[in-house]
Amino acid sequence: MFTKDLIDNLLSSSVEEHLHKKIEEIKKKDKEINSFITLGIEEAEKKAKEIQKKIDENKQGKLSGLVISIKDNIAVSNLRMTCGSKVLENYIAPYDATVTNLIKKEDGIIIGKCNMDEFACGSDGTSSYFGPTKNPVNLDYVPGGSSSGSAASIAANFSDLSIGSDTGGSIRCPASFCGVYGFKPSYGMVSRYGLSDMAMSLEGPGPFAKDTYGIALLLDVITGKDPRDTVTIERDSSSYLKTVEDFKECDIKNLKIAYAKEFFEGVDEGIKKIILDKIGNLESHGAKIEEVSLPNLKYAISIYYLVVFSEFSSAMSKFDGFKYGHYSGGQDIVEAVSSTRETAMGTEVKRRVLLGTFITMEEVRGKWYTKALKARSVIKDDFKRIFNSYDLLIGPTMPTLPWKIGERISDPLAMYSADILTVSANLAGVCASSQPVGKVKGLPVGLQLHANSLSESKLLKGMRAVEIANGGM
Ligand code: GLN
Repeated sequence: MFTKDLIDNLLSSSVEEHLHKKIEEIKKKDKEINSFITLGIEEAEKKAKEIQKKIDENKQGKLSGLVISIKDNIAVSNLRMTCGSKVLENYIAPYDATVTNLIKKEDGIIIGKCNMDEFACGSDGTSSYFGPTKNPVNLDYVPGGSSSGSAASIAANFSDLSIGSDTGGSIRCPASFCGVYGFKPSYGMVSRYGLSDMAMSLEGPGPFAKDTYGIALLLDVITGKDPRDTVTIERDSSSYLKTVEDFKECDIKNLKIAYAKEFFEGVDEGIKKIILDKIGNLESHGAKIEEVSLPNLKYAISIYYLVVFSEFSSAMSKFDGFKYGHYSGGQDIVEAVSSTRETAMGTEVKRRVLLGTFITMEEVRGKWYTKALKARSVIKDDFKRIFNSYDLLIGPTMPTLPWKIGERISDPLAMYSADILTVSANLAGVCASSQPVGKVKGLPVGLQLHANSLSESKLLKGMRAVEIANGGM
C-alpha cells in the first residue's frame, strides 16, 4: 500500500528531507498547476524538526510527518484564508479549524492552503480569484472542483494527503478528474468548526489520498464529536485503518452491492464501459451485485441548487465589508455593501446570492424553497430503502471526462449538470467516495461508492474491495 510504505520509509529516514522534496517539487511545478494559494514553509520546517525528534524517541503521532495540504476555506491559524475570493484576499485566520487542530496533534505537517472555486461554488476549479488550477494529468484540462487544489496537490505529488470540503461533490469530482482518492464522510462525522460555510445542511470536510489506506488514516484522525459543532456525531472507537488493513480478498464475497441504472443514463460511453467492467470484477470475486432504481435522481440537481442558493445567500451575508474582508467604501451603508460585493465577488458567487435572496423571499418561499425541502426528503427515503438491503451503492463519480479549461465557465447550467451523480449523497447525508479505476483518452475515470450514513467502515471496505479486485496494492 502506497501510503503505508511512505510512513514506514518516513520512520526510518528523514521527515525533513521528505518535506524538502515536496517543497522542491512545488517550486518547480506549481507556477503552472496553481494548486496552492498560500504556502506555510517556515512553520512546516519547524514542525518537521519537532516531528523528527519525536520519531527518534518513538513518540510520533498517527500522521508521523506526512505532508498535508488544506483547502483554503478551512482555517489554519496565522495563514491566509481566502476561500478563493478577493473578498478575503488579505484575511489571516486567527485560529485553527477542528480538522486542522486534529491533524497538527497527530503530527501531520501542513504545507499550505489549496486553490479552490470561489467560496466552493463550482465543479471545475476555474472560478478562483487566484486563477484556475490545472489538471496535473493534462494541463489543458480542468482538475474538477471545487476542491481543485487539494486533488491537484495529491496528483502532482506536492502533498501526501489533503483536506477538502464536499457540499455537492467538491471532493469526489476533483478526485475523479485528477485520478486520486476522495472521501465525503457522512454528514456530522467531521466537524465544520473553522470551515467557511457554503450550504451548512449539506457539507463537511473530508480527505484526499493516493489510496484507501491514506483515506482511512486521515479519517481516523479527523472524525468524531466536536462540542464546537453541534451536528457532529460520536463515532465508535474502532479504527478505520485496521478495517482496511484487515480486509482480505475473500471478504469481497460478503459485500452486497446495488447499482442504480439511473447512474448510467447520459454517462460518457468510455466511462460507462470502465465502471461496468469494474463491477464485473467485483462480481467475479463473489460480491453480490443487483440492479436497483433511484427514480428521483432526475430531480436531484434542481433540489440541490435550490437548497444551495438559499443557504449560500444567507451564509454570504457576513461578507459585507464591515465584519470581514474587502471594503470598497461608499456614501452610505447600502452603497458601501453593494459596491464591496460588486467589486470583490465573482460572477458565480453573485449569481447564487441573488438567486438565493430571491427564492427565500416571503412571497415565493412556498413555490421554491419549501418544495425543495420536501423533495429532499424523498431522495433521502430512496437511499434509506436501498441501504436497508445493500451495503453499498456503486456507479461512476462523474458523467463526463474532464473538459478543457474555460469550456464551461460561461455556461452555468452545463457546469451544474456535471454534479448529477454526486449531489444526492449530500442531500441524503450519506457517505460516498471516489477512486481512480482507469483512463479514457488519457484522462482519469473515478468510480463512486455510497454507504449509509455512519457506515464509513463499510464504505472503506468497498473501496478496498475495488482496489483488490483490480489487482491493486
Ligand atoms: N459543484 C457543486 C456546486 O457548485 C458542489 C460544490 C461543493 O461541493 N462545494 O455547488
